[in-house]
Amino acid sequence: MSRSADRARRGPAVRLKPARDRSVAHRHPWIFAGAIDDVVGDPQSGDTVSIVAAGGEALAVAAYSPASQIRARVWTFDPGETVDDAFIADRIGRAAALRAPMFDSKHDAARLVHGESDGLPGVVADRYANVVVLQLTSAGGERRREAIVGALAALPGVTAVYERSDAEVRTLEGLPPRTGAASGVLPPDPAIVEDGIAYGVDPIAGQKTGFYLDQRDNRRIVRSLARGRRVLNVFCYTGGFTLAALAGGAARAMSIDSSADAIAQARANVARNASLDPATSEWIEADAFVDLRRLRNAGASFDLIVVDPPKFAPTAAHAERAARAYKDVNLLALKMLEPGGMLATFSCSGGVSAELFQKIVAGAAVDAKADVQIVRKLGASADHPVALGFPEGEYLKGLLLRRA
Ligand code: SAH
Repeated sequence: MSRSADRARRGPAVRLKPARDRSVAHRHPWIFAGAIDDVVGDPQSGDTVSIVAAGGEALAVAAYSPASQIRARVWTFDPGETVDDAFIADRIGRAAALRAPMFDSKHDAARLVHGESDGLPGVVADRYANVVVLQLTSAGGERRREAIVGALAALPGVTAVYERSDAEVRTLEGLPPRTGAASGVLPPDPAIVEDGIAYGVDPIAGQKTGFYLDQRDNRRIVRSLARGRRVLNVFCYTGGFTLAALAGGAARAMSIDSSADAIAQARANVARNASLDPATSEWIEADAFVDLRRLRNAGASFDLIVVDPPKFAPTAAHAERAARAYKDVNLLALKMLEPGGMLATFSCSGGVSAELFQKIVAGAAVDAKADVQIVRKLGASADHPVALGFPEGEYLKGLLLRRA
């Protein structure tokens, strides 16, 4: 055994129950409380621990989280590796390198760090032009906060790191919310360019870190299909798909969201782009479940519809109720879709698999008495990679459908 591995094993350690080392062997980064036989030493929240098999073999180095059912999250599957500031900086550098080619004159936004899938459990960092918005949701991320902020602030061109560690899941790790500037000063009106379209982004009060970067590739697909079409964008947030469709030559677009702030930002986003005619877009602040019924009863029809709801099922426990909601919105959308029209429909629910989602949408098509083809399966953009050992990372699934 190397000297560093030996050293690691003399610090705090988590010993797994017999035959519970399979998931670590498959490079899954979560150690659940139920798999743990024994905790050696007295590790505190965020402390680095060795993960050890029942037989004593060191398997990995992880961050300990006493409050969470996910009791430890693996930093590295090399038990001899030292987790220090240099380790964190190296991981962030590798993550940023994957995204470097995604920035050019038409794009200045991308997710730089995608948590577990970038080897940084519970760490998300989104770059919006010169600003990085950071979200920490794990005890380990919290412990390494300074190193993470430092590494992000040191990336070329970054002038501010703003923290949005206010996600609900932090409570599961026993962490209080934290928001505010972590480095530098936010510019007064942060904005990005995606595919040549300008969008305002609000890191302070926007949803998630301010913008749904995961839909970038899908917005481009919608744009390519939009020419001459009458578009409906349900759950539009700040208008991402709507502006993409208008830029692609949509005849007109109607967009629905229940958030007044999102609608206000969406309207402002149209105004930001001189090439877009505000007269071609209509924005409706409403509950989509109610407003889609109103539209259907009024006999509305569309040629291109986007349905991108919020996470109805964060975990599998919510899957049944979520299934009803997904079916409802997709049924209403399909009923208003002209023959030959296209529907881009999504689920970002961890608790609903791609297979289940497809079944739900198929059920909606049966009820709508519509013949529907899958033209393409959709997922998150390439700045949201999925580690092969961590299938949970593949949360966004979508279908591009055509009504016969
Ligand atoms: N497609 C968007 C992201 C959508 S996120 C983009 O590309 O940017 C989901 C959106 O659904 C949020 O903006 C949220 O405000 C909205 N929402 C949540 N519940 C809703 C409801 N019942 N009716 C309408 N909008 C809702």
